[in-house]
Amino acid sequence: MKILIDNGHGENTPGKRSPKWADGTQLFEWEYTREIAQRVEAELRKHGIDIERIVKENVDVPLSVRCKRANDIARKIGIKNCLLVSIHNNAANGKARGWEIHTYLGTSKSDEYATIFWNEAKALLPNGEPMRGDHTDGDPDWDSNFSILRDTICPAVLTENLFMDNEEDCRYLLSGTGKQVITTIHVQSILKIIGK
Ligand SMILES: [Zn+2]
Repeated sequence: MKILIDNGHGENTPGKRSPKWADGTQLFEWEYTREIAQRVEAELRKHGIDIERIVKENVDVPLSVRCKRANDIARKIGIKNCLLVSIHNNAANGKARGWEIHTYLGTSKSDEYATIFWNEAKALLPNGEPMRGDHTDGDPDWDSNFSILRDTICPAVLTENLFMDNEEDCRYLLSGTGKQVITTIHVQSILKIIGK
C-alpha cells in the first residue's frame, strides 16, 4: 500500500494562519502541516512504508494539480492500494476547539479508514480536547464535498487538527508534545490501516 500525504496550502495562501498572540506567537497552516507531514513521512519510512508527499513546494499548489498528482500515482499502483491523507488545521470563531476528520459524501473504504484515525486521535489527544464527530450516519467522520476528497480516485481522508484560531489549541499544536501527538495520530492510524 502507498500513502499519499497532502500538506495543504502554501506560504502565499491568504488567511490560513492563527492570530498573532500577545507574545508574538503565530501559527501558519502551510508551515505547520508541512512540518507534520515531514515528521509523519520520516516515521513511516522507518517502518518501511511507501509514502510520498504530493506537495513538495512551499507555494500554493492548486487543488486540481494536487488531485492529478494523487490520481496519476493511484492509477499506476492501483486505486485500492492507495490512501491519501490531507493534513489541516481548523479555524472558526476563536472559541471552537477540537479534532475532526472528513471523508467524501456517502460510504466507502475512506469511512472505515477515518474511523481508525478517529480512534487513535481519541486515545492520544489530551483529556478535555473535544472530539468533534458527525455520528448521524453511524460513523464519526464528517461527509464533506471537498475537492481533495471528491476528485481523488483512491480512498481519501482529511484531518482537521485542532483550531489554530483558538489560543489554547494553537499553543498545544505548537508545543513539542502537541507536534508529537499530532504526528503520532497519523503514524499509528496509517500503521493500523496497513496492518503493521
Ligand atoms: Zn486547511
